Amino acid sequence: MAKNIFDAIVIGSGISGGWAAKELCEHGLKTLVLERGKDVVHLKDYPTATKNPWDFTHRGTMPYEVEKANPVVARCYAFNEATQHFFVKDTEHPYIQEKPFDWIRGYQVGGKSLLWARQTQRWGHYDFEGPARDGFAIDWPIRYKDLAPWYSYVEKFAGISGNKDGLDTLPDGEFLPPWELNCVEKEMQRKIMSGYKDRHVIIGRCAHLTKPQEIHIQQGRTQCRARTMCDRGCPFGGYFSSNSSTIPWAQKTGNLTLQPDSVVHSVIYNEGLGKATGVRVIDAKTKKASEYYAKIIFINAACLNTNLILLNSTSNRFSNGLGNDNGLLGKYIAFHNYRGTLFAGYDGHEDKYYYGRRPTQPMMPNFRNVQKQEMDFLRGYTVHFSAGRYAPESNVDGDQIGGVYKDAICEPGGWYVSMMMQGETIPKESNHVRLSSDKKDEWGIPQLITSVGYDENDERLLKDFLSQGEEMLSTAGCINISKRDSKQAPGLDIHEMGGVRMGNDPKTSLLNKWNQMHACKNVFVTDGACMVSTATQNPSLTFMAITARAADHAVSELKKGNL
Ligand SMILES: Cc1cc2nc3c(=O)[nH]c(=O)nc-3n(C[C@H](O)[C@H](O)[C@H](O)COP(=O)(O)OP(=O)(O)OC[C@H]3O[C@@H](n4cnc5c(N)ncnc54)[C@H](O)[C@@H]3O)c2cc1C
Repeated sequence: MAKNIFDAIVIGSGISGGWAAKELCEHGLKTLVLERGKDVVHLKDYPTATKNPWDFTHRGTMPYEVEKANPVVARCYAFNEATQHFFVKDTEHPYIQEKPFDWIRGYQVGGKSLLWARQTQRWGHYDFEGPARDGFAIDWPIRYKDLAPWYSYVEKFAGISGNKDGLDTLPDGEFLPPWELNCVEKEMQRKIMSGYKDRHVIIGRCAHLTKPQEIHIQQGRTQCRARTMCDRGCPFGGYFSSNSSTIPWAQKTGNLTLQPDSVVHSVIYNEGLGKATGVRVIDAKTKKASEYYAKIIFINAACLNTNLILLNSTSNRFSNGLGNDNGLLGKYIAFHNYRGTLFAGYDGHEDKYYYGRRPTQPMMPNFRNVQKQEMDFLRGYTVHFSAGRYAPESNVDGDQIGGVYKDAICEPGGWYVSMMMQGETIPKESNHVRLSSDKKDEWGIPQLITSVGYDENDERLLKDFLSQGEEMLSTAGCINISKRDSKQAPGLDIHEMGGVRMGNDPKTSLLNKWNQMHACKNVFVTDGACMVSTATQNPSLTFMAITARAADHAVSELKKGNL
């Protein structure tokens, strides 16, 4: 038993778990990270990272049979022949969709940090104040000023590229040099910003090392080569992942025990002590059960799996799941509305080109309902867009042959513009997850039932984006504008949040302002499950900052003997 005792246990080694591990290990805590998936060692376990298209049997695309067998994960834009080994296949880990929900997962050391698109924006004060001002969900127990120093802290270590834009809707951070807009994007920026005083076009902020600093070199990471093959794993450590950054850093302290293939079944609660004492684990391969013990437990299994673990952690004291005195565990799940996209052409600039690739794109922070409620829907949306040139084949009109054909494919095609939304959704009690009473997975753990859907607010917000997007593209000089509602299911945004929300009142929330469970103070939840609302920003930078802040608090409480 002694070898199973640690100071801290972290469940999951993805973006938030990696940060918990780094912080706790650096503070001298003997920390066990339990990861349900296989080990993925930086550099060694990126089998496709340097392959060319012709090195793949199907030139990178997935065979039809694989897509047919895995309809959920196949809908994710990043799932292909070069990345498939980092994604969970549908059949391997079933769940029950009461309403359609595309649950995209990465079960391995590093979790989805290997796969993410690395867009990283801070939340601002409008976002934390949103629920209280607009009367939905509950009030956040923290404000931007509470998290601002922690954003700075994680940004410096992770390496975030961006421009200091000076916007109160999207606070600036500790930036490495920004990527550049291309000539068409610059022209669109000028036209949109002179056409709309409340709209700002900026370059997307992203977790890439455009100019590595000493702290990144110490991590063994080097400059981003803009290969944009990131989701295969980056041998340069050019983008932030747990594998290239937080996990090896934690390992260097000598305090980390990283244990892959360890499926956490539930948290053990000791009624006499009034706290959690450890976790039950099923070996992913042998299915053997074991237990591990620690003074504090960080649950970072990613939003829905964190909900699942807590719902499955039942005891005499907590018959409906750990800390679930108010019955709200698993409820108020929210996500981002990505349904709207637009596409257009752009005349001119045909004598100009852009060189190389770029791992980000221009964006427009939310401009709806910012200062006050103005629209017939709550909250708003971030807009991402980019301009590029069609492939040379687009110059061929069908019956060209010989020299004419060769000349045509030696020139890039004309310019196109694509635009997408990232809309805030309103957390509702009815959008929930719960455990199946009869269906279990291979490891004897109840399957998760997802019951999460869109509502009227989402439809109105989508309608507004499509009409505003069309108007802005037209103002920017685009031609042949087309609009689309993908009608994609929730989940495909891969920004699921909520179910174990923070709050000041234990009657309406599960966690306090330090991410400790109200009813079980030595359990911390710092992944997307803790979120009260979703804002319109990509969420992972906020998960990192919240995790570092909570870990700091956990260590100080531990030192004071309060845990
Ligand atoms: C294609 C793609 C693009 C994305 N783009 C962006 C973006 O641009 N910006 C952004 O902010 N976010 C983006 N995301 C989302 C981002 O990846 C997640 O928000 C982030 O990874 C969440 O961190 P996490 O630690 O909560 O979960 P994860 O990184 O998923 O890590 C969770 C870990 O827990 C493990 N685990 C789960 N259950 C158990 C268990 N029972 N026992 C033990 N271990 C367990 C998992 O195997 C996994 O390793 C994207 C995601 C994808 C897939």
